[in-house]
Amino acid sequence: MKPRKSVFSVKAAVAAWSLTMSLAGFCGAAAPIETVPWNGHVGAVSFTFDDALENQVQNLTPILDELKDVHVTFFVTSMGNGIQNNAAGFANLAKAGHEIGNHTDTHAHLSGISDNSELENEIVKFADKIESTMAENGAKVRVTSLATPFCENNDKIKSVINKRHFINRDCGWHGRNEWDVEPEWLSIQAKVWTRSGASVEELLSSLDTAAFIGNFEGAKPWEVSVKGGSWLVVLNHGVTDDKGDDYAINPEDIKKLFKHALENDLWTAPFGTIGAYHRAHFIVDKAEKNETENGYTVQWEIPNEHMPESVPLRVKIDTKSVDEKAIVEQDGKILKQESDGTYIIEFMAKALTVRKPKEGEKNPQDSTTAIAQNPKFEREYTNFTLFDMNGNKLGAVDNFAVPERFPKGTYIIRAESKGHPSKTVKMVHK
Ligand SMILES: [Zn+2]
Repeated sequence: MKPRKSVFSVKAAVAAWSLTMSLAGFCGAAAPIETVPWNGHVGAVSFTFDDALENQVQNLTPILDELKDVHVTFFVTSMGNGIQNNAAGFANLAKAGHEIGNHTDTHAHLSGISDNSELENEIVKFADKIESTMAENGAKVRVTSLATPFCENNDKIKSVINKRHFINRDCGWHGRNEWDVEPEWLSIQAKVWTRSGASVEELLSSLDTAAFIGNFEGAKPWEVSVKGGSWLVVLNHGVTDDKGDDYAINPEDIKKLFKHALENDLWTAPFGTIGAYHRAHFIVDKAEKNETENGYTVQWEIPNEHMPESVPLRVKIDTKSVDEKAIVEQDGKILKQESDGTYIIEFMAKALTVRKPKEGEKNPQDSTTAIAQNPKFEREYTNFTLFDMNGNKLGAVDNFAVPERFPKGTYIIRAESKGHPSKTVKMVHK
């Protein structure tokens, strides 16, 4: 969509955007809402863990308890009594914000099942069973995602999945999804980890690609071109040091990957969470305005009733064409503008209103607040490091700017400070 912008270009970008939007508003054409890619991060990653294994509960729980900004997905099944034997452990993980998804009742070869009611038992009924099992263990879980066992999928299977889930994970390929390319929601690809088939270095590099760090100009023609941050989906199984388990990853290695995802400023969140955000943006960004006496309303449809109950979207809204102090409302509730000028809207509310303030009505925010006017925002980071596009460290710099003495070209600057996630920005030095 749009290239990522450095922090100090935000003011200019917001101004340019406002101008574009007010011109568009003037012509009465463009859609008034634009979702911010990947919830304001450079890219996104969903780590998914299949098969409801005991070693996932044992070895991942302490790592995830430590890394509070990492949330993952567990695709559970009754195979080996996985969910039954580990119900309390998975319920605790659910309570900590991790997703519990469906991996079918018996881990069946779905393409070999011709009987529709059997497919429904594996897929639809088991989703209910997961929810009741989690509820018995004190966790309120809404199953919205499925992952096909053995990645066996076809149109008939998809039609059954669609009855109870809004998204499905298959496997294979590089597992990356671009912001502005709508994927096949019931067949999302994933990068598969096995000890023999991948290396930790390769996965670290995939996390760089998702964050748009690297030099992709020389990419081979058969490789998919990398044009910006993307959403990487990773498929894992066990988490153990047992080298005999080819599908498993060592606990210290998965921890290294989680940490690298955070270092790269990737939105590290469950498959269903990022999938819902991604799916919602294709709808909201196309929704058109209906003019009203004092502003406009926008309405949209929910594409699948099995989306999560709440799908918060970080968006830019054309308010300037209505009023400098325009008010944004959903369900009669006034939304507060974020410090960067965006709004967090609820996709599942299916509508929003932008209107002029009423006589004497105070707007809870000053709509002219922007990041660039908040000096604290730029001072948040204390250390800035410059890298070339091959990842070579070139030294410390003062801010998000490449010093004049460096040759023209593209660079990476990583900003860090205590108590904040680091931020990596790609800069063109002209
Ligand atoms: Zn499996």
